[in-house]
Amino acid sequence: MVTIGVGLPAFCAELEAALERQGLTDVAAQVRSAQIQSRCSCGESDCASFTVQSSRALNVVERNVIGERYRGSHEIEGLEGLVVVDLDNFGRLMQIEVLYRPDVADTLESLHLAGRAG
Ligand SMILES: [Zn+2]
Repeated sequence: MVTIGVGLPAFCAELEAALERQGLTDVAAQVRSAQIQSRCSCGESDCASFTVQSSRALNVVERNVIGERYRGSHEIEGLEGLVVVDLDNFGRLMQIEVLYRPDVADTLESLHLAGRAG
């Protein structure tokens, strides 16, 4: 897998700056090293959403006792298109929803990720 910093360098810089502006510094710190997993399978041509694996690993208690769950989303302001970050209950990045960003979609396409349906 490739990290956001390597696979989507321009988008990475934009997103980090926007997260910082919104005070989401913990999330901003995870963006560059998060690994791009797979693209959203909705099949919408405007959708460039993708799931990520945070570089912050869970410990045994977090993983086996607490368990990871979807916690909430933040819509990111000041970016072209629509960008929403989804976080788990440990505040780790799970998914980045990206709409109306052909530049991001094209770059993701060139990475040949698995998981894209249609
Ligand atoms: Zn989608």
